[in-house]
Amino acid sequence: MIELLRATVFHTPERAIESFADGGLLICDGRIAACGDYTELRATNPDIAVRDLRGGYLLPGLIDTHVHFPQLRVLGGMGRQLLDWLEFVALPEEARMSDVTYACDTARRFVRALASHGTTTALVFGSHFKAATAALFRAAQGSGLRIVSGQVVADRALRPELHRSPADAFRDCTELIHEFHGRGRLLFAVTPRFAVSASEAMLEVCQTLLNEHEGLRFQTHINENELERAEVARLFPWAQDYFAVYERFHLTRPGAVMAHNVHTSDSELERLAATGTSIAHCPCSNAMLGSGIFPLRRHIDAGVHCALGTDVGGGTGFGILKEALQAYALQRLAPDGMLLTPGHLLYLATRAGAQALQLEHETGDFTVGKSADYIYLRAPEGSPLEAVLERAESPDRILSALFTLAGSESIADVRVAGEAVRDDA
Ligand SMILES: [Zn+2]
Repeated sequence: MIELLRATVFHTPERAIESFADGGLLICDGRIAACGDYTELRATNPDIAVRDLRGGYLLPGLIDTHVHFPQLRVLGGMGRQLLDWLEFVALPEEARMSDVTYACDTARRFVRALASHGTTTALVFGSHFKAATAALFRAAQGSGLRIVSGQVVADRALRPELHRSPADAFRDCTELIHEFHGRGRLLFAVTPRFAVSASEAMLEVCQTLLNEHEGLRFQTHINENELERAEVARLFPWAQDYFAVYERFHLTRPGAVMAHNVHTSDSELERLAATGTSIAHCPCSNAMLGSGIFPLRRHIDAGVHCALGTDVGGGTGFGILKEALQAYALQRLAPDGMLLTPGHLLYLATRAGAQALQLEHETGDFTVGKSADYIYLRAPEGSPLEAVLERAESPDRILSALFTLAGSESIADVRVAGEAVRDDA
């Protein structure tokens, strides 16, 4: 199956943006066969079917590197900071996932929400319950999305019903790994919620799982909030800082993604970079929970790899375009802020996520040979976006308009490996 799509094309094969005003994307058996100027591609492929999508924009599928599936229904909680938001808003909802029917319904809605916002790949915090986490994997499998997830493990400091013994956590995760890891587009991520809720024995279980199985990813939280940091210092008196807790158990590595890192030291940044550990930057959540403004420049200067996460339900929804816009806006306010360009935003929203997840060989841009994971954006008729785009001539101006004004209503098509995302989960 070969087809040539014709539209304006944007992607970031390197950090810089590449765009084709009258662009072509040649797709062969679900993979990118060429990306470039339409007329040139048409000349060398005169006989193949063309899908004329002019008037809209093709972007690589968006990548969310931090999102919690059980927190779909607590979006929009206001007036709290991290630890009391967890106690009174997030964790009671996480406890409801013990009801498998409820969890299956949430998983279906969650997967649908990712797709409708143009997210084709996501690193997802599963549930504390094995059956609920399996429900997420099944919903993801049914949809065709590329999902990396794992059962959240914790043995203290939350609600008793969310705690598992390290031995039980080990058994549950091992079973899920056998059932889902490497199946189709699914991967398993070892997922301790954060150091506060993981004893040393639990962190050892995480280390053992990573050692025993090839290709697992790792995700957790770090340095989100000052009270959380103080609690980690109290619980792990031997650790020089928060990152040292994860270092001790060899959880710091390429393919490990830690969310937030708002309050961090130079030494931690140096060690994050040295170990190839990535940070999921979640600016909407940072603002909603009053966690602080992310020191992006310090991360970049230290060589720490950063991507974007929506952090549903601490954040404000599923849109990675909106998340990128919030990153831009908060950097304008940060004391040492970076002036992000539309090209930076596209990179952060796509290829940077693929690199964080060690999936850059497969997705994140339109390099030949990668999976044809793409979204098609088109301004709704009569919308402000349509009006702005009528005047937008440069690639930067078009992309700025899309990041500022395009919500899920502007996402007309979402494909993974050239196939429409299915809603039969
Ligand atoms: Zn989170």
